[in-house]
Amino acid sequence: TKEVIVVGAGLAGSEAAYQLAKRGIKVKLYEMKSKKKTEAHKTEKFGELVCSNSLGADNLANASGLMKEELRRMDSLLIKIADKHRVPAGQALAVDREGFSEDITKSLKAMENIEIIEEELVEIPKDKIVLIASGPLTSHGLSQKIGELTHTDYLYFYDAAAPIVTFESINMDIAYRQSRYGKGDGEYINCPMNKEEYYNFYNALVSAERVPLKAFEEEKIFDACMPVERIAMTGEKTLVFGPLKPKGLTNPKTDKMDYAVVQLRQDDKDGRLYNLVGFQTNLKWGEQKRIFSMIPGLENADFVRYGVMHRNTFINSTELLDKTLKLKNSENIYFGGQITGSEGYVSSIATGMMAAINIAHKLEGKAPLILDDRSAIGAMVKYITEEKKNFQPMGPNFGIIRGLDGERIRDKKERYMRISQIALDYLDSKLGEI
Ligand code: FAD
Repeated sequence: TKEVIVVGAGLAGSEAAYQLAKRGIKVKLYEMKSKKKTEAHKTEKFGELVCSNSLGADNLANASGLMKEELRRMDSLLIKIADKHRVPAGQALAVDREGFSEDITKSLKAMENIEIIEEELVEIPKDKIVLIASGPLTSHGLSQKIGELTHTDYLYFYDAAAPIVTFESINMDIAYRQSRYGKGDGEYINCPMNKEEYYNFYNALVSAERVPLKAFEEEKIFDACMPVERIAMTGEKTLVFGPLKPKGLTNPKTDKMDYAVVQLRQDDKDGRLYNLVGFQTNLKWGEQKRIFSMIPGLENADFVRYGVMHRNTFINSTELLDKTLKLKNSENIYFGGQITGSEGYVSSIATGMMAAINIAHKLEGKAPLILDDRSAIGAMVKYITEEKKNFQPMGPNFGIIRGLDGERIRDKKERYMRISQIALDYLDSKLGEI
């Protein structure tokens, strides 16, 4: 019988298990969480969002939005479930994380072709088809085996996550609801700062005590997820032009723009929890309480989760994987998810799906499904499988999508919309192959 072992019921592994099972393939899905948790996973549910509850933009002028629409058209279970558990977040697809994971877990457990094995997989079976989707926090035992298998140094660096506070502890006499530039429905809560408040906060932030990193880890901090105190250290006004930018917001109490604004985004379905947007941090927890409580409106904030930093593991896919996400030097080992260097929730779902479809095609004797870089998913697979120097993980972006051929559109938004339309037309023409 056709059987595939999927390692990890995270975003990639859950999507992959569904794609295989719905094609009539038996899946043994290994997930270790009930016995052993990574540094960031907190629950035993599948498809757990370890940090932000936002899956990123959900409009076609954005590459992440395009990738989501492609995934919808390819019958992604996880995007379908995300759509169902959406919470208000302006133009982004943010979800109630509990409902999202609960639904994924139930859906997979209900599938006849999926057998769940609640164990850490350490030995990679040699005679079975295996899809490794064990994520950025792959267990140490398995990491070591993957290192042996790929004969290369295992790469990893550090990633950061933002703190979460309760809504009822936010002082709404100071903070106010509003979306930037009046877009959306006032989903964000804004904590305003005048110049003096900003500089007091800034000085405390840059001199706060951090969790020490080892020297080689220091070098590997990922730019896109730079801790807020690190951003601050690049210049005393950098935050005012970055995560604390006041542009597009008018304080209803003064009818003016503030000097700086900290935005909070809804984190759960019922709006009881809010995260500090852009506040990934490596400060010690006591320091986070002390310093983030200096933010006007958060003076009595109840922190339900502090920001953390974690390792992020990925293989050198550009050398190791072929375009079906199979290990070049093996007939039966595939990789999907963040461990391939496809960064972020949605790219992880996408590469998990693509590895699964290609495994299914191989088992069914069909031609592989290779999407080209007109599509966001194809561009991502191409990015992680084409040889390059200094390979770094990347999320969906228009920089890697093919773009317009000859046609000129000046307006950026219009141009991106046009590229997305080409991508979707192209994808639709390929849907017959799956
Ligand atoms: P995961 O979702 O991590 O799933 C892997 C699963 O494999 C886990 O459930 C794990 O328990 C299991 N596992 C590991 N080893 C074994 C083993 N040997 N045997 C059995 N099971 C195993 N992305 C974003 O888009 N937004 C964010 O805000 C964000 N924040 C992040 C914060 C942190 C701290 C980290 C580490 C990552 C963050 N990421 C974020 C990246 C995010 O992890 C990935 O985008 C996504 O979760 C990866 O999906 P995945 O399926 O590859 O791995």
